[in-house]
Amino acid sequence: MSEPLMLVIATRNAGKSAEIKDLLKDFPIEVRDLNDFGPIPEPAEDGETFEENAYKKASFTAKVLGIPALADDSGLEVEALDGRPGVHSARFAGPNATDEENNAKLLEELKGASNRKARFTCVISIAVPAGFALTYEGTCEGIILEEPRGSGGFGYDPLFFYPPAGKTFAEMTREEKSRVSHRGKALRELRAEFDKVIVWLRQRLEEERRMLGLGDHEH
Ligand code: IMP
Repeated sequence: MSEPLMLVIATRNAGKSAEIKDLLKDFPIEVRDLNDFGPIPEPAEDGETFEENAYKKASFTAKVLGIPALADDSGLEVEALDGRPGVHSARFAGPNATDEENNAKLLEELKGASNRKARFTCVISIAVPAGFALTYEGTCEGIILEEPRGSGGFGYDPLFFYPPAGKTFAEMTREEKSRVSHRGKALRELRAEFDKVIVWLRQRLEEERRMLGLGDHEH
């Protein structure tokens, strides 16, 4: 019998953690989040891509806690703004900007623009303490409206119109949004591959033990 495998989700956001735990509940892995541990330092989110930021969070957390970690990073890229706000989506209008302030800034920057194409991206990274990592990505394309519509969701949802549904993300139920969203796609891809992820994690952890001269205790 091999020892239980653990994965820590690099978040203190209870909603995010519950969603991922639910998704992975049928797999032979114990899923934790940062609230299960004491205070740990936070990595700087200063990468230039979603992948870089997701990897930084995952590998930093895996190193600090000594167990595999999962992290995500997401944001909105607007074609007419050369991909902005991108990795700065959460703080587009300033360091502590609210969703309303970020949405107002987006509308201001797109005033009069006829090209209103935009894309959400979500990248998930799973890293082991030695730094090796797997990456999953989901995207969703839409149009930035000229005024907000709907009251659900968060962030840029009221401005993000998804043409196939004829609605903004803020006009969808959580299930409807998850079926088509960047995050929903990345999470479903992760779940579809998770059997392989488990094998990969066990192999990396065994290698790590061998490198540390701890031998192989699994057989
Ligand atoms: P993160 O928490 O570092 O991934 O920051 C993501 C930021 O991108 C959020 O604060 C939102 O502004 C934006 N964002 C990401 N995903 C969504 C979404 O599904 N709807 C609306 N805004 C989103």
